[in-house]
Amino acid sequence: MITESIDLPLPEKRPRPSNDFYESMICLICSDFFKPPIVQCSKGHSYCQSCVQRMSESQSPCKSCAVCRSPISSEVRNYSLEQLLDKFTIQCNWSSRGCTKQVTLSERFEHEKTCEYRPQVFCYYKELQKCLWRGDPGLIADHLTNCHEVQELTRGSLFRYLWNPPSESIWRYRFRILKQAVSLDSEPFTFILEHYYSSEEKILCFLVRSPNPDVRKKYRLSILNRNNDNNRITFESFTVSYEEVGHIKDFLKEDLSKMLLIPFKQIQNFCFLCEEDRALYFSLHIHFI
Ligand SMILES: [Zn+2]
Ligand SMILES: [Zn+2]
Ligand SMILES: [Zn+2]
Ligand SMILES: [Zn+2]
Repeated sequence: MITESIDLPLPEKRPRPSNDFYESMICLICSDFFKPPIVQCSKGHSYCQSCVQRMSESQSPCKSCAVCRSPISSEVRNYSLEQLLDKFTIQCNWSSRGCTKQVTLSERFEHEKTCEYRPQVFCYYKELQKCLWRGDPGLIADHLTNCHEVQELTRGSLFRYLWNPPSESIWRYRFRILKQAVSLDSEPFTFILEHYYSSEEKILCFLVRSPNPDVRKKYRLSILNRNNDNNRITFESFTVSYEEVGHIKDFLKEDLSKMLLIPFKQIQNFCFLCEEDRALYFSLHIHFI
């Protein structure tokens, strides 16, 4: 049995001093320390600006306070709270991995992004081609193109997945690199599309990975009928980071909401036979919105 495996870090709980002051520095949306800039609702409840932006992407268009339901403006900053973040220090998030650095609440994000103890990812070809590469999530796409000649798919490209129906004993795990600009005039971002077929449940799982945890985008995935471009099924979801979801085939129950799950029944009629290699495929299109 051929398997491709990737060991990904699971989300880790930040070591947190337990006292009232630190508790008051917690954002109610992300349950983590405030990440500046901090914004507030019209009654004064505070949140990370990034959390409010995320929330408005998923529950558009309303941005209302989780405590009092008042509107939150992403422009009304809480400067005094932001200044307090400079005054208090905590351990780096990766202290359990060996980092001994104490960082202020405001500088910790910058440190943790480049901390030498932050989790690393293994190459997607670790098992299949015995590749020993491991490194920063931000470098994995370059490694895959340079060392394994994995093709990059650019904006608007249509691509196909080998289907050839997976037997009961073989699960199928595939991935593609997407280098796509989110809008016509923006710089391209790198994402990794991962696909896994669970033969037990007969479900296709898709996720689009963003190696940079600060980049979170909404995308539309369409499965197309090759004979008729207008006949397609479309799904929408958000990109996830390596920190949020580990290996797609070992996902946890709580990860399911972050993936696109498509029962095979739903796309069965979209598979087509390729004359060249007599294999079954289906066509996909990804569009960032
Ligand atoms: Zn937050
Ligand atoms: Zn409020
Ligand atoms: Zn550190
Ligand atoms: Zn490799």
